[in-house]
Amino acid sequence: MKKISFLLMILSLVIMVNSCKQNSKQDDQLANNPLLQEWDTPYGVPPFDQIKDEHYEPAFEFAMKEQKDNIQKIIDNKDAATFENTVVALEFSGLTLSKVSSVFFNMLSCNTSDSLQAIAQRISPKLSKHGDEIMMNPELFEKIKQVYSQKASLNLNDEQKMLLEQTYKEFENGGANLNDSDKKRMMEINEKLSLLSLQFGDNLLAETNNYKLVIDKEEDLAGLPEAVKEAAALTAKENGMEGKWVFTLQNSSIMPFLQYSANRELRKNIQTAYVNRGNNNDKYDNKAIILEIVALRMEKAQLLGYDNHASLVLEDNMAENPENVYKLIDKLWTPALVVAKQEAQMYTDMMKKEGINDKLQAYDWRYYTEKVRQEKYNLSDEELQPYFKLENVVDGVFEVSGKLFGLKFKKADNIPVYNPDVQAFEVTDLNGNHVAVLYMDYFPRANKEGGAWMTDFRGQYVYNGEKVTPIITINCNFTKPTSTQPSLLTFDEASTLFHEFGHGLHGMLSDCLYPSTSGTNVPRDFVELPSQIMENWASEPEVLKMYARHYKTNEPISDELLAKMKAAGTFNQGFTTVEYLAASYLDLYWHTMTEMKETDVLAAEKNALEKIGLMPEIVSRYRSTYFAHIFSGEYSSGYYSYIWSEVLDSDAFGAFKEKGLFDSATSESLKKNIFANGHKDDPMTMFVNFRGREPKIDALLEKRGLN
Ligand SMILES: [Zn+2]
Repeated sequence: MKKISFLLMILSLVIMVNSCKQNSKQDDQLANNPLLQEWDTPYGVPPFDQIKDEHYEPAFEFAMKEQKDNIQKIIDNKDAATFENTVVALEFSGLTLSKVSSVFFNMLSCNTSDSLQAIAQRISPKLSKHGDEIMMNPELFEKIKQVYSQKASLNLNDEQKMLLEQTYKEFENGGANLNDSDKKRMMEINEKLSLLSLQFGDNLLAETNNYKLVIDKEEDLAGLPEAVKEAAALTAKENGMEGKWVFTLQNSSIMPFLQYSANRELRKNIQTAYVNRGNNNDKYDNKAIILEIVALRMEKAQLLGYDNHASLVLEDNMAENPENVYKLIDKLWTPALVVAKQEAQMYTDMMKKEGINDKLQAYDWRYYTEKVRQEKYNLSDEELQPYFKLENVVDGVFEVSGKLFGLKFKKADNIPVYNPDVQAFEVTDLNGNHVAVLYMDYFPRANKEGGAWMTDFRGQYVYNGEKVTPIITINCNFTKPTSTQPSLLTFDEASTLFHEFGHGLHGMLSDCLYPSTSGTNVPRDFVELPSQIMENWASEPEVLKMYARHYKTNEPISDELLAKMKAAGTFNQGFTTVEYLAASYLDLYWHTMTEMKETDVLAAEKNALEKIGLMPEIVSRYRSTYFAHIFSGEYSSGYYSYIWSEVLDSDAFGAFKEKGLFDSATSESLKKNIFANGHKDDPMTMFVNFRGREPKIDALLEKRGLN
């Protein structure tokens, strides 16, 4: 997953903070506020040890005021509006605000506290209002329009044209053309939405932390591998329950439990808790929030002249409209469901063989997947995990990035981190020139969101003729090392690391001019191309031989295991595809409504999933009440993006299959046309420039065994 700052547009000029001496107490406080000072740290990373919670709000207030002043200067400029004095000046008008926001929102995701959550509740409506006042400022929009109307004669390069187009569109969709009463309503909607999405995320974190499966009898651990038991014992110890075993709703805890636990009742217990997060009719319930978000998004889209929220969001994506999204996912749904039903039959047979004469349930699926995998392919995750020690996988992704893009990674202990678990790396090119700073935050914590994502503390751009280098951060939730063994990843987790690293490379290799067009700031259904294409290297035998080494013996993975992995490659892909597509349909269901008739979230969800014929043994990858991607993240109407991008990445990777996994001309072209190119161009043009033609779906169907 890729997170973008929700202030994408509101970036700005670095103003040398308060160089003149001022005397009032408030100004002293501002002058001493580390968020507003120049950061005297390696590569200008945030000085985490100096930033205290009380610094955020005054810094936000100052930075918003500063951006307003900068915008007033654009408006007051007596010269005719030009691309530079208007569009570029606006683009850089909020650099301080973006600096403060990036630290704050990153900490809110991965190092939060009650205090930060309270600040977010207070500051988000103000940020929303601030953004709206820029988008709805008629004098500013007038100047933008003047530049836009001359676009053909301005002699702009591709990236500049893109920035101008995007800026103009952003004002249109930000309400610049609305009448005063509609503008007022839209501001109310944006403010409410900013609070509701925060509330949704806070509730989800609380619900994830609130449940614990505590086991105190050893016999209830039947089926679990030693490593899983040991991790559960460590979790128990961390929660003051030494001597017991605790499983949580973090994926790194619940998933192995569902996969291996022979205790059907306990599997049912933890799975039920997992799929009911945000649905417990208590103070963390998300159902009312969902109905409000959906209604407000629809109203906003219609104020702007669109049929529904999805049409508004998709206009700037490769898909362009909901019909094109349905065209793709409908094409995949039917074959995926056929395969998933065959899988269900296999698992039911296995269950019968074990003497359980009951229907296969959702909480049985992962357990019998594992059993059948072992029987059919003589392969288990447990057998593979010793080859995926976290450090080895990290070295592997570093090596692949080095071979493809000429990057070197060096752990930098002098770079401050916000938590002792976090590692910082300096990234250079082969000549030793600085490219980026990279933070890696691998493990779950109670104050960190679940899942995996990439974001940045600073994007790449050119300012005053100087290239500003990016500061990238990658977050995962992998199993922690215990006293007796290192962090051993499943192959899925190793792929996740390659995935997030692909987003990271997209940020690190960026070679663009403007914050809004650089790095990962590309349309949502294109942004998963750089991340997902990296997953392809993770599973290539030639690459596995490089990094998949046994953590005890350092022996590379054997040919026999590689052959088994290959044979099992498309195993359970029916489930994976169906689970994912169901969530994509659910997302579209909520966001293609043109009339708000729903009053019951669970009934609506049931209706949406019955319509596509989802089988009861498979739960949508996310149910509505914990679907953070669409209700507190930036993937609303965009959850389909992963499969859309997979059409692109499977086909793009074909170029390497044809010419060689590390063919230098091909990797140079991938870097130039995709990874370094930000949003300089239309995504389809960038793809065609790399591949020489438009994408074909065949490679995806083959990879998932759906052809
Ligand atoms: Zn992603």
